[in-house]
Amino acid sequence: MTDTTTRAPLALTTLGGVRTVTGSRFLVEVGDRRVLVDAGLFQGLKDLRERNWAAFPVPPRDLDAIVITHAHLDHCGYLPKLVQAGFRGPVFVTYDTGKLMSVVLPDSGRLQEEEARYANRAGYSRHRPALALYTEDDAWTALDRLVPKPFDEEFEPAPGFRARFSPAGHILGSSILRLRLETPGTAPVTITFSGDLGRQQHPLLRPPEPVGDTDWLVVESTYGDREHAEDDSVERLAELIDRTVDRGGKVIIPAFAVDRTEVLLYHLRQLHEAGRLPAVPVYVDSPMALAALSVYRDAIDGHADDVRDDLHGDGNLFRLPQLDEVLDAEGSKSVSRMQGPAIVIAGSGMASGGRVVHHLERFLPDPANSVALVGFQAAGTRGRSLMDGADSVKIHGRYVPVRAEICDLSGFSVHADGSELIDWLRTAERAPAGVFVVHGEERASLALRGRIVGELGWNAVVPQDGERLDLHVAVDRVGAGGAVEARAAVTTDQAPPAAVSADGRADDSRARLVVADHGVLSTVDADRGVHAVPVCFTVVDDLVAVPIDTVKAKRSTDLRRSANTAADPRATLLVDHWDRHDWQQLWWVRADLTRLDDAVLDPAVVRRLEAGLRDRYPQYRDAPFAGVLVFHVDRLTGWSAT
Ligand SMILES: [Zn+2]
Repeated sequence: MTDTTTRAPLALTTLGGVRTVTGSRFLVEVGDRRVLVDAGLFQGLKDLRERNWAAFPVPPRDLDAIVITHAHLDHCGYLPKLVQAGFRGPVFVTYDTGKLMSVVLPDSGRLQEEEARYANRAGYSRHRPALALYTEDDAWTALDRLVPKPFDEEFEPAPGFRARFSPAGHILGSSILRLRLETPGTAPVTITFSGDLGRQQHPLLRPPEPVGDTDWLVVESTYGDREHAEDDSVERLAELIDRTVDRGGKVIIPAFAVDRTEVLLYHLRQLHEAGRLPAVPVYVDSPMALAALSVYRDAIDGHADDVRDDLHGDGNLFRLPQLDEVLDAEGSKSVSRMQGPAIVIAGSGMASGGRVVHHLERFLPDPANSVALVGFQAAGTRGRSLMDGADSVKIHGRYVPVRAEICDLSGFSVHADGSELIDWLRTAERAPAGVFVVHGEERASLALRGRIVGELGWNAVVPQDGERLDLHVAVDRVGAGGAVEARAAVTTDQAPPAAVSADGRADDSRARLVVADHGVLSTVDADRGVHAVPVCFTVVDDLVAVPIDTVKAKRSTDLRRSANTAADPRATLLVDHWDRHDWQQLWWVRADLTRLDDAVLDPAVVRRLEAGLRDRYPQYRDAPFAGVLVFHVDRLTGWSAT
């Protein structure tokens, strides 16, 4: 058992971007130094967006520095708010991330101002007058704080932090961030943030760099529960364009300004070269996308480190004779009024705002038209409704019928899918002490976590929002010792360890978890008033299975939905999963004692665990089996109620 109370903090706190895809904000602490990794805007569902207005949990002036992994708003869009609220430190970025932020942040400020003006006119805001979250001016002020750094060069965001960006292949300038944390008295600890991870076959960018050597890993999971279709997306787009043009309709493509538009233009140009693109106008109706396009052109001309080697200097990549760059609002309106077939690329990428909304309003009701969805569509956005087959979507206060053809082209995704994420994780030089699965809707994160545990045999957890995670690696090593100690203490299968008194109360002042290769798992947290939870378990391979109904806890509300009573030891082995709320209560064993959905655990493993349990505990031989609670025995650690 270790005591973390005497050590300097070495911690990661999730302040957003967990169990959701937006609002990435991760606080890393070394002693009294604080560095924020990403300052993302919450987007999508209203509850999430409201969080942009909440006070930041750490006074922004107390942050020493901010490091931004890439220029998407869900990673950098909150920065102006932090600067407005008093942050005065440096903001480290790669060169192209900085350039792209100079495109997206002022635009975001303008949008916030427009929204506030619109809310005031329409009178729908709770605040009177409605205020912008931040203004375009705020965005420019925030941009003054940028400190660009090249890839693969070490820099020091704050004392005790050594940082390095590596290409992540997601969008231009996007990075995997490696941090080496140094505190006096302990060995350095490394933590690697995947950022948003690209795919091997991005047409413009080099594939993501390998994981390398790291103690902790924070990995995204946007598509953790999905596999991209065999990559025929370009072919399917070509066919969609053909079909739509034959019908005399328009292809509307909601696209993120940064990267999606560039990649689309690249593919359209390839189709044009191959004689596959009908001679219809292609409108890029997004000043922001056009500005981002020039950053991409410069990067390709300037041999940027993350651009594919074979593209360097090729200025014609995006050249299309029928390309019409629409800069002003009048031009956009005339695109909406225009007759005849065309391809219209406009933002925003999830149709939650921007010019594409006007085009959808105009073109969705006509079955001649089509909509190509080429990016991730978050819950609560119009893009998601369209993808899910809604027959109408609400635009400007009224329901617009959806009769246009909707085509899901997620193969264009800039995010790695589940298997690609696992493949990337396999590039690690060793098993990390732990993997924190973030940046995904809950289902996706849990699915990826399951795969990491099942396929790689690593310790992985989906953190809670606002959770503080201790990064001292020594805990893990001492945990192994704890297991040895426990093995000696446990003499019979179901005897409680000595630390627990007969009434199940703890007589140990600290939370602890002890484990042997079979016997009693005991968790005690006297400080927090939680009683001992002696649990029978068995080990199969390196997994531990626990028949939940053997829990003798007096206060086991986590089991309240249990179908059986503890009085009947032959009842269901595992009655229920611990749901989110119950998990909260078990926060002090969260890092290892986590549950898996059967769905994400290899059925063969589940069967082995079941057999192991029935073998070990004859009283359960005939009991119905509902599932298993699984955690890794080789990663069981000591716990401190910090
Ligand atoms: Zn991104």
